[in-house]
Order: sequence, then structure tokens, then C-alpha cells
Amino acid sequence: MQVNKIPVMDIAKSAEITDKINLLGMSKDELAAFFVSIGEKPFRATQVMKWIYQFGVTDFFEMSNISKKLQQRLHELACVLPPVVRYKEFSQDGTRKWVFEVAGGSLVETVLIPAEDNKQFGRKTLCISSQVGCALDCSFCSTGKQGFERDLTLSEIIGQLWVANQSYMDDVPATKRQNLVTNVVMMGMGEPLLNYEPVVAAMSLMLDDHAFGLSKRRVTLSTSGIVPKMYDLAKDIDVALAISLHAPNDTLRDELVPINKKYPLNELIKAAKAYIYDENPRHKKHVTIEYVMLAGVNDSDEHAHQLAALLKDLPSKINLIPFNPFAHAPYQRSSNNRIHAFSNILNQAGFVCTIRQTRGDDIDAACGQLVGQVADRTRRAKKWQESIEKRQQAMLLDGADIAK
Ligand code: SF4
Repeated sequence: MQVNKIPVMDIAKSAEITDKINLLGMSKDELAAFFVSIGEKPFRATQVMKWIYQFGVTDFFEMSNISKKLQQRLHELACVLPPVVRYKEFSQDGTRKWVFEVAGGSLVETVLIPAEDNKQFGRKTLCISSQVGCALDCSFCSTGKQGFERDLTLSEIIGQLWVANQSYMDDVPATKRQNLVTNVVMMGMGEPLLNYEPVVAAMSLMLDDHAFGLSKRRVTLSTSGIVPKMYDLAKDIDVALAISLHAPNDTLRDELVPINKKYPLNELIKAAKAYIYDENPRHKKHVTIEYVMLAGVNDSDEHAHQLAALLKDLPSKINLIPFNPFAHAPYQRSSNNRIHAFSNILNQAGFVCTIRQTRGDDIDAACGQLVGQVADRTRRAKKWQESIEKRQQAMLLDGADIAK
């Protein structure tokens, strides 16, 4: 992939305004309360939301349906402050990646992948992070190896979508701007259901007609299976659900996705069914099953048959993800032939099964495949580094034995 690297830093400007109230990430009710608190009518909230989210405007003086007096007042009291972009990469094939520096100096990544035809108004899917690092330590996952640092705030989560949309608005007059990101997946760094309230609030803004106005089928939350929170989610919001499954039996899933020891497959599948069939009449027709293809680990014909049996009563689409190796990863990507053979078995069992295209191998967008840009500050990161050094030393010793 050809990449234009664009270093970006605007921390000085951000620092100037951090003592003001950040309106980015406030719900409609919170914004209405803010306007009431400064002696204004609550409907100002929807006016300002449209400027912030639909036109990407941060300068109150550009909000032309607001009086000059209120513009000045907002300028003094408030700001619209997205997370700081440390750098961004825009590829020729339309893929875009941002590295954000969030409060405390940690870095998180966001990736946008357009449909293959890369049309200006075509599908563009943004993969959003919900945490700095991740506590769940899935064995195939780069993010998991870095340990968990902290949850992202609502404005840091929604700010990723705001910045991605903004990147299509540069050089367009404020009133002519429009959002071009069509789909969002909460599938970047972190387990979104372990940062529940901010994630649900951010998705509410994504769906809100006064904010991003995305359709509920175009906002997807991907979970590794935090079962109790899946039941909460079914009640709280209507979005598409994806499950990072990656293994068709408990023994293997315990190893690949250790949270499975706490919430095993029978509980996970039951919660997924409840998500589809719950009493909420608005709800969804299927879940998406994410399955990373690891050579010789979870990709045999037998595994495919087990997967078909496991999912037989769960309306589901299966997305096979060729593994994107990262430095010192203990796995390799399954061959294309193996992935197709696996997919054929699932198709024959009646499932819709897709194989994720790897658009630009250096842009890694699956759950847990965002490459480590988090400032490693955890003991797990240290342990992972030590295990790599041990393995390297063992290899050196093996080499010495062979030389003898
Ligand atoms: S795969 Fe997802 S849930 Fe698992 S460690 Fe990585 S980021 Fe966390």
C-alpha cells in the first residue's frame, strides 16, 4: 500500500482551550442542560449538535443560525475539542489511519476502510477503539499483549468518528460539508462492553439524527463475549452485534480468548440468541461471527464442522479474517486454500460466509489487530517482551547446538 504520512500536532492550540467546557461528546440532554444553565433555550442543543456533528464545525462564529451574542458567549465558555491527532496515514486505495494522543499521553488507533471501488460517496467503514490497550489478553492479539491502560472517554470515542468525517470536509465551506463515513464498527483497541456507558452513549450519538444520523444496521459493536453486558445492550440500544468467536469449542477458545473461561460458549450463544430474539421488537435479524484464521490452530475441516454445529440455531453470518501477523506473534495466517476450504464447508452447511479482504496489509483492522502504538506501561507488556527475549535466546541456543 502506498501511504502518505502526514505528521499532525496541534497540542498547543488544544492546551489553550482545555479549561473550557468541551461540547463534543455531550448527549442532546446534556447539551440542552448546558444551554439552560447559561440562560438559553434548550433547542439550541439541536442547532449546535448539527453544526458540530454534521458540518464538522468547531468555531462558534461559523454557526450562522446562532446570534452573534451567543456565538461570543460560547466562544468564551465552551469549545469543540476532538482528540489530538498525532499522525495520520492516507493510502492510495482510500484506507485511512489515525493515531490519536489521548489524555495522559497514550496513543490509540482508528482505521477507515472504504469499499473496494473507493467511490467518493461509497461505503466507508470506520473501526473505532474503546480502550487504551485491553485487559482480555486474547492470544492472537497485538493489543492484548500491551495490557490495559484505561477506558476512553465518550468524547475520545466519538471524536474518532468526528475526525474521520472531518478528513473529508477540508476545504469545503461549512454549510456544504457532509459526513462521508457510512459504517462504524466498535472493533478497534479494547473490549467495548467493558467500557459500557461511554460506548453506548457514543453509539447513541452515532444514531441520533441531530448528530451523525447513521442507520442502526450500520453501527456494529463487536464483543469477545462479556455475557452479562450483552443482555444489557439488548435492552439499551439497537445496533448490530458481532462476536469475536475465533474457536468452535471451549478447549480451544479458552486458549485463544481467555474470557471464555468465565463466559463459556453455551452462555455466549445463549446471550447472542437473546440479543436477536429478545422482547425488543426493534431488534436485529442475525449476529456476525468473527473468526480469525490461524494456520494449524483453528482452521481444519473438523473445526469448520464444529462451528457449523455450534451456530446451527443462531442466525448468523460468518466473517473469516485472515490473521495479520505482528512482530513475534505465535501464529501464522492460514493459506488461501485452507480459508476457502473452511468457507466452503460453512456455505454447504447453509451459512453466509465471507472472507475479509486484507486491504493494505499494514492497516490492520480486525478486533485485536490494531498494531501496537499504545505506550507500553503495563506489566503484561513487560512480560510479553521478556517472553520474546526468552524465545530468542532459546533459538540462539538451538542454533548453537545445531552448529555443533
Ligand atoms: S482481541 Fe479484542 S478483546 Fe481480545 S485482547 Fe484483543 S482487543 Fe481485547
